Amino acid sequence: MLGDDVLKDFKCTGCGTCCRWTGSVLLIDRDIAGMAVRLGLSEPEFIDRHTRLAPNRIQLALLDKVDGSCAFLEGDRCSIYAVRPEQCRSFPFAWSVPEGCPVLDKLVVQQKNIEQAGKNA
Ligand code: SF4
Ligand code: SF4
Repeated sequence: MLGDDVLKDFKCTGCGTCCRWTGSVLLIDRDIAGMAVRLGLSEPEFIDRHTRLAPNRIQLALLDKVDGSCAFLEGDRCSIYAVRPEQCRSFPFAWSVPEGCPVLDKLVVQQKNIEQAGKNA
């Protein structure tokens, strides 16, 4: 996990890459409530139309397109950005990945350089 000193410089460019990763966008109750209101659906309607049971068989997850990207990705943009799930909001601060986000990948290199400079000092 990146240190706070590096994460403070994180600024998402909205490239949409992370919305194309395979895996599940897990949902919590307030995600469902917010998205249902935004889409003008009742919560049961939203669940029927836009979710599936996650592999953990405990939570619901958003549906994917056939290419594995999130069903709410339009071009490079999230079509429900204002009410996107907590899992999306909290990346990369509450959870992260070793590589794959172009901005994070640059910060990882930056952090390694800082660490190396510290060792050489
Ligand atoms: S991959 Fe990184 S920069 Fe691109 S949209 Fe996701 S968080 Fe933002
Ligand atoms: S809900 Fe929006 S931000 Fe989250 S994965 Fe889908 S398109 Fe990306």
